[in-house]
Amino acid sequence: MRCPVEKRIDILIRGGTAVTLSERGNIIEDAEIGIGNGEILFIRRGSSKDPLPESVEIIDGSGRYILPGLVNTHCHMPMVCFRGLADDLPLDEWLSGHIFPAEARFVDPAFCAAGARLAIAELILSGTTTVCDSYFIPGAVASVALDAGMRAVICAGFADFSVPGIPDPAKNENIAENFIDRWKGSSQLLTPALFCHAPYTCSPKTMSKIKAVAGRRGVLFLTHLAETRWEVDEINRRYGTTPLRHLDRLGVLDGATILVHCTWLDDKELDILAERRCAVSHNPESNMKLAAGVAPLPAMRSRGIVIGLGTDGAASNNDLDLFCEMRTAVGIHRHASRNRDVMDARSALRMATIEGARVLGLEDKIGSLEEGKRADIILVDREKPRMAIAGDPCELLLWSASGADVSTVLIDGKIVVRERKLTTIDAQRAMEEVRNIAEAIGERN
Ligand SMILES: [Zn+2]
Repeated sequence: MRCPVEKRIDILIRGGTAVTLSERGNIIEDAEIGIGNGEILFIRRGSSKDPLPESVEIIDGSGRYILPGLVNTHCHMPMVCFRGLADDLPLDEWLSGHIFPAEARFVDPAFCAAGARLAIAELILSGTTTVCDSYFIPGAVASVALDAGMRAVICAGFADFSVPGIPDPAKNENIAENFIDRWKGSSQLLTPALFCHAPYTCSPKTMSKIKAVAGRRGVLFLTHLAETRWEVDEINRRYGTTPLRHLDRLGVLDGATILVHCTWLDDKELDILAERRCAVSHNPESNMKLAAGVAPLPAMRSRGIVIGLGTDGAASNNDLDLFCEMRTAVGIHRHASRNRDVMDARSALRMATIEGARVLGLEDKIGSLEEGKRADIILVDREKPRMAIAGDPCELLLWSASGADVSTVLIDGKIVVRERKLTTIDAQRAMEEVRNIAEAIGERN
């Protein structure tokens, strides 16, 4: 019998507390994690005494929590260039009166590339290793994500009117097909997908056609849904039903559809959602900022609906820090229900990791620290005044930590942040580029 070939270790994380977020929920003190060829080769307690080849890079994990990288299931990365633009307006007025006109005037490939670069810098510095992004000119966003070594689901965005990169919406279907053909299978890190903006900006024909392309090409289909009371009234006025029932009639709801927000759903709609096996991206900070409402998360969870967390774009959040999003999610649902038991710290951490990965169909690859998974790993510094007491790691990470405590980040076994320093992005340049764009918008708007 042949012996299996020993896999080569490239990186060894030594020491620290591994919060694996696996099904068994094990927490490993004094952990040792071996990484080779971008994969987690082993994770165990205590260090082995075997000598290591000199080529192995050792990361000191002592004084750190070690977690799977966070998964942001909904973002519009280039919108960092619009951060702070027309804040504090109702969603319909903010979108139609400010964001859509600004997008028509300013968004081009350079805008998308600069915005994506800065957003990825912010995301990985705060512990996010996978992002699902929905915007226009997605090829520019995808190229930047690949250069930065970010794991990403990049969605091409569609509406009934002309949008940046698609002057003629009659070409939506062709553009969707070409985008998938260009990027599908191009990299281990990148997954293309398709995004219809919302049922009030996409006609039944647009929704059905784009979902059909997604189905034919075997990719995910996403849309904002039932975000505000205004949307519910508008869809009822146009189609005589609610947004979710409208999409159900169109036949676009299935296990490869992700619905973003789902703030306004009744019990029967939640049953439909569960039956069709759609996944949900929950974005509580954006919902709170826009006063959209509180999504019925406990009722979704009790039906077994798969739910991940998203930040939404930086124009409606305004940061991309999933630690903040986790804390807000638990806080808002405990507050709204006056029930402490609706969600605990571990469930919130799982929603930001393995459940987010499940939303994106990546749960076999990422989302927990387990042998055989890709090495998307973050180290969170415990040597901070507010983290100094040893308590339950999940509770401390939820209620006391922030993205600013993330010290080191690996994506696919590559170190992209080392002791708070980005290794694949020039942060100064990224900030400068977006500042210049934002100034131009300010001057010409
Ligand atoms: Zn959004």
